[in-house]
Amino acid sequence: MSSKPRAPKRPSDLKPRLAKARARGMSGPLEERARRMLAAYLDMAEQHGLSLRETVSEMAGGQAAWRLGSATRDAMLANPPEAVRNAACTAGCAFCCILTEGDGGLITEAEATRLHAALSPLAGQPDGRDWHRAACPALDPDTRACRAYEARPMICRSFLSTDAEACRVNAEGGTAEGSGLLGSHLDYLATLAVVRDALKGIAQVPSYAMARIAAGAVEGETLEESLKAARHAPKVLEETCRDAARAAGA
Ligand code: SF4
Ligand code: SF4
Repeated sequence: MSSKPRAPKRPSDLKPRLAKARARGMSGPLEERARRMLAAYLDMAEQHGLSLRETVSEMAGGQAAWRLGSATRDAMLANPPEAVRNAACTAGCAFCCILTEGDGGLITEAEATRLHAALSPLAGQPDGRDWHRAACPALDPDTRACRAYEARPMICRSFLSTDAEACRVNAEGGTAEGSGLLGSHLDYLATLAVVRDALKGIAQVPSYAMARIAAGAVEGETLEESLKAARHAPKVLEETCRDAARAAGA
């Protein structure tokens, strides 16, 4: 007679689910690294006295992936690869904030909430779309600085280029080389995908369209309205993982 699996009571009780969780669209090594980082996160959550409910809430909302992704990104920047050392990025250079393709990128509920809170007080003011019709609404149309810099999501923190002219060409629909995402962003996406699979049946792990959240905030929508309108279909996370891994050759 087989015994029923024990219902999770503590953060570390999620480890058996984690061990089986997949990051669809990502390579095996990225998937495995995400599982390892999340197992360490569960240990840390328990050491810090977080309840199972608090831990699941952090994971589902994207805070766990944010912590792990930020740590990975910081570690990479402490010993920057050549692309980072040669980055052409400067204040006011904002061709990467022209969202010609897609919806500005996939963000978590935690990122959407922070971005919305940063932009809501600016509702009704001119926004990035007054500079370029496809620009991110978070952009200042005069200075071309991000008006939500401290609240910008991981996708914005992870994008860079060694050639601003290539960014200009790409913003107009071209395919110039020189720009891309830091490798740490793959870990971020893989972590989110593993979390979603591990929490199946326990909690939803939604993702959102960044540009739609920003537009809703500057147009005076409530957070609830913006989250509802910007929510992705479930398949978008897997597609985003696959596209990011393919672009990075990972
Ligand atoms: S990614 Fe490109 S457009 Fe964006 S700041 Fe860097 S060089 Fe400028
Ligand atoms: S949130 Fe800020 S950095 Fe990100 S695309 Fe919008 S304006 Fe650019």
